[in-house]
Amino acid sequence: MQEIKVYHSTRSRSVTASPSQAVLQGIAPDGGLYTLDAYSSETADYRHLLALDTLEMTAEILSSLLPDYGRGKMRSIVRDAYRDKYTSEVLTPVVPAGENGMLELFHGPTSAFKDFALSILPFLMRESSVLCGSQNEVLILTATSGDTGKAALEGFRDVKGTRIIVFYPDQGVSPIQKAQMVTQSGNNVCVCAVRGNFDDAQNGVKQIFTSDHIRQILHSRAVCLSSANSINIGRLAPQVVYYFIAYREMIKLGRIRCGDLLDYSVPTGNFGDILAGFIARQMGLPVGKLICASNANCVLTDFLRTGVYDRCRPFHLTLSPSMDILISSNLERLLYLISQDADLVKKLMDDLKNSGRYTIPAFMLEELQDVFFPAFCNDQETLHTIREVWDHYHYLCDPHTAVAWNAAEQYHKAFPAHHPTVVLATASPYKFPSAIQEALGIASVGNGYETMRNLSSLTGVPVPPNLKKLESKPVLHTDVIDKEAMSDYVLAKAVEKQWNR
Ligand SMILES: *Cc1c(COP(=O)(O)O)cnc(C)c1O
Repeated sequence: MQEIKVYHSTRSRSVTASPSQAVLQGIAPDGGLYTLDAYSSETADYRHLLALDTLEMTAEILSSLLPDYGRGKMRSIVRDAYRDKYTSEVLTPVVPAGENGMLELFHGPTSAFKDFALSILPFLMRESSVLCGSQNEVLILTATSGDTGKAALEGFRDVKGTRIIVFYPDQGVSPIQKAQMVTQSGNNVCVCAVRGNFDDAQNGVKQIFTSDHIRQILHSRAVCLSSANSINIGRLAPQVVYYFIAYREMIKLGRIRCGDLLDYSVPTGNFGDILAGFIARQMGLPVGKLICASNANCVLTDFLRTGVYDRCRPFHLTLSPSMDILISSNLERLLYLISQDADLVKKLMDDLKNSGRYTIPAFMLEELQDVFFPAFCNDQETLHTIREVWDHYHYLCDPHTAVAWNAAEQYHKAFPAHHPTVVLATASPYKFPSAIQEALGIASVGNGYETMRNLSSLTGVPVPPNLKKLESKPVLHTDVIDKEAMSDYVLAKAVEKQWNR
């Protein structure tokens, strides 16, 4: 029997869980996030991993991070999870654009990077139920800044033993993102708008998770809660994989040799994607800098420059809505990994809750700055970047990807001796057609779908089929509630026998 690495809460080393329990619970009962002490890997040598094809590599990395599933089982889970879902055999190909490599993470079923993890999370969760001997129905609660919601709905749709409720900020997602969610079919799916922003929706979900009262009521109905957000380690772990894929593909493109350092620029919101890069680095992948790219909500830029995290600031709705976040949940995991001090993390999180800000000790800031380079750009600069990348390299970026490109450029200016860089391309440009149209200076032609078609005929870049089909789909979800009403909503939904429409 393989020794099972034990996960524990970032806020207390005595709140522990096996990997499968951590996946099933989503968040630790004390409000912390499940983490390992360190992700250094004795089982998986990076050179060995780079020699594997994508599915083998995925299975190896996941069974090293989630060892109690077992290698054989993990292989079959991986095969089932990605069967017929991606248009590329590599799953996430790297396309050169100028001196950068674009890691295209959007070839999955909803054209968002989140598909990569959410294609497999339902399978991991089902197996977790088996491993934990749980007969309960799993109710997934998810707050979304746009892309998680749709990718999670698509992943969990009609998965036996699960139901999913997605909350999105009613003014905080793009029209195409909204259309993707409100047209979602499936017997076990529910979509609801919350009057507020993403942080309101995410806080509401976290409160429900940590309420003993609600847990008890649901427990008496044989329902247990879990999360599809990157607070769930089962969502985070798969994201580690494409940092390895990108490295392997950059070798194939002749941009690096095995062992060279590679920089990654990551458009960042909840800090899940970029934390996966940090985990890949701990596992031994030669990661140089992780460029933490933000939009006008530059709370992370300020934090990584000063060591002061201060969420008390104006909230901006931007052209990159999936990054319109002031409380980046996964930063908590990084704070633990850097400090190895759960008491300190708990204190910082209490400070954040009580006063909206916290300050980390100088030694931690130094360590963070060793690995992370922070940069941000505003909407004007985002549009300008989309235009430049198109004009110079004939590459069409979505606004989030453009923010990451812009941040990489800032890094390259500041450090001319930088390494080759991979920019994480996190969404299809066609999820944000009006921003692209504005960036390219194309006259408006009507609604989002007409804009998509027009852009496609002008640029020659095809519209992904899942987005093309949206226009003809009926709206199935129309609920809108106040943020205070979220827990009542969940309790009411949990007792409804049939969500079927
Ligand atoms: C979610 C998302 C991000 C931010 O990722 P985090 O893991 O939340 O930091 C960036 N770009 C797009 C398109 C996204 O959907």
